[in-house]
Amino acid sequence: MTHDLNDYAEKRDFAQTPEPQEKGGGAPDGGKPAFVIQKHQSSTLHYDFRLEVRGVLTSWAVPKGPSMDPRQKRLAVPTEDHPLAYAEFEGVIPDGEYGAGTVIVWDRGTYRNLRVEKEQDGPSMEEALAEGKVEVWLEGEKVRGGFALIQTGNGEDARWLLIKLRDGEADARRNPVATEPDSVLSGRSIEEVRDEEGRAQEKN
Ligand code: MN
Repeated sequence: MTHDLNDYAEKRDFAQTPEPQEKGGGAPDGGKPAFVIQKHQSSTLHYDFRLEVRGVLTSWAVPKGPSMDPRQKRLAVPTEDHPLAYAEFEGVIPDGEYGAGTVIVWDRGTYRNLRVEKEQDGPSMEEALAEGKVEVWLEGEKVRGGFALIQTGNGEDARWLLIKLRDGEADARRNPVATEPDSVLSGRSIEEVRDEEGRAQEKN
């Protein structure tokens, strides 16, 4: 995990994509770091899980999205750091561009580093990422409670697992990915954003 935005900028042509170029953004709630989960219909549907760490959004692509059931381990593939302003982005990435498809803000809020709270001399988020063992408490609109991100494998084979921790917010019967599919930012479905924003782009 790199903590810089060079990969992000190199993959994108900002003359073509409406994605944010500027760093921008910032902690929305009394300095607590932000998290966002973006639903992204590109060649495949996935959920981009992002945590604000040291001024960028550390990111993973989670094909099935988060589960509230601690028995479910969800694959999380690391992707490039994104600028903080990306947490507000929903729209259509044009055909031929990196990540072409539609993005909505599926959930967002703030988080806490649980390892700092639970362990003596617990690691910072950067240290926890380097160790491959992150535990955070999420305060979103759909997703709340403790989650672990555990690294398995290294280098090109690096894979992480996103797992709900066993706490009062764990609930195997709740499946917000299925029951609450739309944007928390605009209330729109991914199809509505595709149709509305896609039409706006054609006019330009
Ligand atoms: Mn994505």
